[in-house]
Amino acid sequence: MGRLTTVTPTLTRVALGYVNAYLIGHPQRWVLIDTGERTHSAALLRAARQFSADVPPQAIVLTHGHFDHAGGARELSQHWGVPVYASRFELPFLRGAEAYPQPDPAVGGFYGWLAQFVTMPTCEPLTDLHELPSDLAQIGLDGWVCVATPGHTPGHVSFSTRGIGCSWRGMPASRSISRVGWALLPAGRGFQGHRRPIRSIGRRLIAHLCSWRHWSRR
Ligand SMILES: [Zn+2]
Repeated sequence: MGRLTTVTPTLTRVALGYVNAYLIGHPQRWVLIDTGERTHSAALLRAARQFSADVPPQAIVLTHGHFDHAGGARELSQHWGVPVYASRFELPFLRGAEAYPQPDPAVGGFYGWLAQFVTMPTCEPLTDLHELPSDLAQIGLDGWVCVATPGHTPGHVSFSTRGIGCSWRGMPASRSISRVGWALLPAGRGFQGHRRPIRSIGRRLIAHLCSWRHWSRR
């Protein structure tokens, strides 16, 4: 738990069991993408210390507000004294003003079956929470852009920099366009319910990676 993997010189993955978090930047100036569940905070702090010694991140950025991606945001934001950013369409959920719909058993697959027995946990409301700026360099994500990939949640976002798209569980889709598709589509019967939103995210991210806007950036 908390194992670091260097994906590119400025993109490091933190494995948190069934989810990942990402550290973008270098040890002196970096941003945390997603936090995992609240119970992952200790592992994430250890990983961050290993990555940057005691240099805190510039900010915490959330791909969306589900408990398994944003569960540790409040605790880590307070620990480091840094703000949290997300799409404006996720802000009502992250502030506790709205709740995500409960999982739908009708979607099929293992998680669909499981949905009839579980209630999706909610995150503690965030206070130092802000809308992602259009210029991500303002929050330490130099050279990166935000790609709106709604579907999984209303304000789900992905991130890309030249040749790289990061999406779904903060997963780095690929360094090459041709691999984005499969990287975004986990195999296995349990994921039927996820296929449509994942494909939607994949299509949007591929469209972005193919666009002039992506490749014309630094
Ligand atoms: Zn989610």
